[in-house]
Amino acid sequence: MIIALTKTNEYIQAGDNKAQLLKNLICPSCGKRVFLKKGESKIPHFSHHPKEACKVFTEGETREHLEGKLALYNFFKKKGYKVKLEAYLKNLKQRPDILIESKKKIVIEYQCSPIPIEKVIERTNSYKASGYKVIWILGNNLKPGPRITDLQKSFIRVHPVFSFYIMHYSAKNQSLQILSHIQKSYGKKWHYNSLIVELSYLIELVEESTTKEVIPDTDKLFFDLKEIHFNLMGAAHYSNSKIRQFCQELYLDNETLLNMPVELYIPVKHEWLIETLAFQWKYYLLKWIENHQIGQVITSKNLDRFIELLIIKGKIKCYRMPQIHGNISKIICYEYMEVLAQHNIIKMIRKNKWSVQKRAKRFNNEEVKLETLTKNSSMKSSNNEQSE
Ligand SMILES: [Zn+2]
Repeated sequence: MIIALTKTNEYIQAGDNKAQLLKNLICPSCGKRVFLKKGESKIPHFSHHPKEACKVFTEGETREHLEGKLALYNFFKKKGYKVKLEAYLKNLKQRPDILIESKKKIVIEYQCSPIPIEKVIERTNSYKASGYKVIWILGNNLKPGPRITDLQKSFIRVHPVFSFYIMHYSAKNQSLQILSHIQKSYGKKWHYNSLIVELSYLIELVEESTTKEVIPDTDKLFFDLKEIHFNLMGAAHYSNSKIRQFCQELYLDNETLLNMPVELYIPVKHEWLIETLAFQWKYYLLKWIENHQIGQVITSKNLDRFIELLIIKGKIKCYRMPQIHGNISKIICYEYMEVLAQHNIIKMIRKNKWSVQKRAKRFNNEEVKLETLTKNSSMKSSNNEQSE
């Protein structure tokens, strides 16, 4: 930590020349003694006695974390913000790296080491509940690589221009990086763009007044349904446990993977936000629709109730993304309703009102199915639009 409390109840920064002259400095969170450490490997900082545990402040802060939070703090201070380093929030028993008190109360956490997702959720929610806006910035160790881990997903934010994004700060290079347009196609690959932005971008983020986030629209999807089919059959063949359990459910419904309709293969834009096998939650939704009479009307109220039921029963499960507001499952199910409307399973009568048109076609012949899947694929090379 960089801030300690003096005998006279004043805060002192470890880099302050006076710090080495003062004795009996204490930790503002737990009140125990702390000692000034000055070395070549790390910037000046305070540290508890090795045998004393501090609940709020974990020891072993890395050089990156110390340097990074100090740099971020100095940046906001220079810009004239009312900013505090390691301010102890008594009611929350939290000590955010940086606290900014402008029109809003903003907390910046520079997260450099792994942390349980539960902690990210708990902290984010407790800050939010007390009226703080939280901005997580990741250090080098947590920066996404070719894939985005579940922990990294919990830091994803939404922005009208950057779409889904994560922020990374390199204390060494003093550069802020935005990994934007995070997306996962139906296959296994993650996509994101990376750009280095000025630190002042954070000001925009801090000053941003919109509280209502909308999941951004993304580019047109391209998909090879045959590939999805082969992946699925392959996974079933190798007894992937998720799929095996799903196949058992299908069996009870007198269905098989092979006879499943084309509609279940069509991806929707944001399905990567859902942890449940896409095929599976789509099947639940389709089955529910098919349980209606032809011509029967489904309202958004009915649909919302059904989605709620799926969520409660754990039949549709989103990744844990506490930085994103709104009911993600619901948004994605509505995206899928559009697919079903394009395929004439339902017809939109009015906004949020559909009538059931027909049952989706089942297959009993793989050859015919593969042909149909090819016809319904949307490939980048050709310019065939979504065909009927
Ligand atoms: Zn302490």
